[in-house]
Amino acid sequence: MKQVSTIDAIRAEVTGLKSQGKTIAFVPTMGALHKGHLSLIRLAKEKADEVVVSIYVNPEQFGPNEDFGSYPRQMEDDLNACEEEGVALVFTPNDKIMYGSGKKYFRIELDELNAHMDGGSRPGFFEGIVLVVNKFFNIVKPDYAVFGQKDIQQFQILSRMVEEFNHDIEMIAGPIARANDGLALSSRNAYLNDHERKAAPGLYRALKYVEKQIRDGVMEPGLLLKHQQDELEAKGFKNDYLNVFSMENMQPVEKLKSGKKYILAGAAYLGKTRLIDNIILDL
Ligand code: AMP
Repeated sequence: MKQVSTIDAIRAEVTGLKSQGKTIAFVPTMGALHKGHLSLIRLAKEKADEVVVSIYVNPEQFGPNEDFGSYPRQMEDDLNACEEEGVALVFTPNDKIMYGSGKKYFRIELDELNAHMDGGSRPGFFEGIVLVVNKFFNIVKPDYAVFGQKDIQQFQILSRMVEEFNHDIEMIAGPIARANDGLALSSRNAYLNDHERKAAPGLYRALKYVEKQIRDGVMEPGLLLKHQQDELEAKGFKNDYLNVFSMENMQPVEKLKSGKKYILAGAAYLGKTRLIDNIILDL
């Protein structure tokens, strides 16, 4: 495995692999790797001959009051984990390499896909992600890019980006890796204290409960969702959103129809930690 930090170096390495006829799958991460990331690396290995992982905490996707400063950083452990998984290249740029220091003349602007869910709650978040992933795609030029369903809105927005900007890259989504008690794995789970960690699977349980009701025929889940939000508040969560969204355009949906695909998604705080989770409903 090679670790490289400059754009010239990663381009040269990828060109070398491609000249041997090898296909490349790319897994972008912000590090603090857990089993969710590793499951994406394995999926990437199934798809392509070689896997490239990036580890970069992208400042552009953090709001001024968010956790950029305290985001977990553990490069040494991450590199060992990548090596064990048989990753060929790890790209670890710094801010200067990714963004330089000169004035920027272009801004990303996103449409309705960004209006709700995390896009609605975190201004600038997806603009920052689109910016960095667009750069990564141009730098690495992989055949495949693998992302987690955990960040389903990210996957949908980036899939549109690939289509609208004609990146020659196949987008692949990996399922959500969970702890035994159902909690979706996340680098941010490291912030939870013991008490919060015990309460944390409550978000997934709420989603599972609503999923079951919908599968049993509840097609207007508004009241049900409100009730589950109240229950979460009673368990110490501070709700951000809990709702059903259209898979197509990420807009909230009040009345569900069979034959359609939806995302049942929630975001809530436990103390300072923001948890997100979702279930795809193919009705
Ligand atoms: P992050 O390092 O949090 O930016 O995540 C890097 C990639 O890992 C993204 O595509 C995430 O969607 C994905 N990911 C994060 N958590 C999980 C999980 N629990 N299961 C599967 N993929 C995940």
